[in-house]
Amino acid sequence: MDLEKALLRKVGEAVTKFKMIREGDRVAVGVSGGKDSVTLLEALLALQRRAPIQFSVCAFTIEQGKFLAPIAPYGQFLLDRGIEWHCFTDASSLRLIDDEPDHGCDLCSRFRRRAVYEHCKTLGANVIALGHTADDFCETLLRNAMFTGALSSLPAITYSKNKDFRLIRPLVFVPESMTTAYAQSLGCPVIPCGCSQKTGTVRRSLRDFMGELEQEHPNLKDSLLSAMGNVKHQRLLDSRYLDPDEGDETEVTSGPFPILSNA
Ligand code: SF4
Repeated sequence: MDLEKALLRKVGEAVTKFKMIREGDRVAVGVSGGKDSVTLLEALLALQRRAPIQFSVCAFTIEQGKFLAPIAPYGQFLLDRGIEWHCFTDASSLRLIDDEPDHGCDLCSRFRRRAVYEHCKTLGANVIALGHTADDFCETLLRNAMFTGALSSLPAITYSKNKDFRLIRPLVFVPESMTTAYAQSLGCPVIPCGCSQKTGTVRRSLRDFMGELEQEHPNLKDSLLSAMGNVKHQRLLDSRYLDPDEGDETEVTSGPFPILSNA
């Protein structure tokens, strides 16, 4: 199938399944200079042209001092395509780099979230679209299960604390192999973030681990995504969801995707 068709099918499935976009929405897409967010932006613009409902789309970037090259050429690429793009520099994040160069993700993402909400308000947006892919959902599921003791991943749809914004992740079903190919087909300049070069992180280890398994089990991510939408409460240990008078020991795990062939 044609790459764009396959991409739009997956994004359309997520948008419809989770009721991500509604009549009259103004959707602000967070673009970070990478392949995922530009793919998301282009996909939403394509869906906007075909959708039976009216909604508008704009793009924004928060400059936190982490880009390894100027973001301007990336922004110019978007502007040349007629896309409304806004860039905001977050002075607090720049100060953070000076004051605490070794700060962790918690602090950085808190600063970013604050800047995103503040600036999206000025754009008149009520929806913020984020470019997390199927790979991010799968990695987060494994990381949370193995390191935080919770069976959870990223929310496909949620709300900001004070409900000012609906936060959506329409690339939930889109693998990074697809965003890489699609961004390349657009000829979009990719501006790397310094953090993407980090090695020895849990994220990197999980990514390598999944990549290795996928050599033999190409449906691995589909199966993990399917598992996230197919929870068997009776076979987990959370007593809040267990009914001691229910259950069937003969029930076997099944779903729309095949179980790993050699597992
Ligand atoms: S990976 Fe880098 S840019 Fe992302 S939250 Fe962590 S410190 Fe910030």
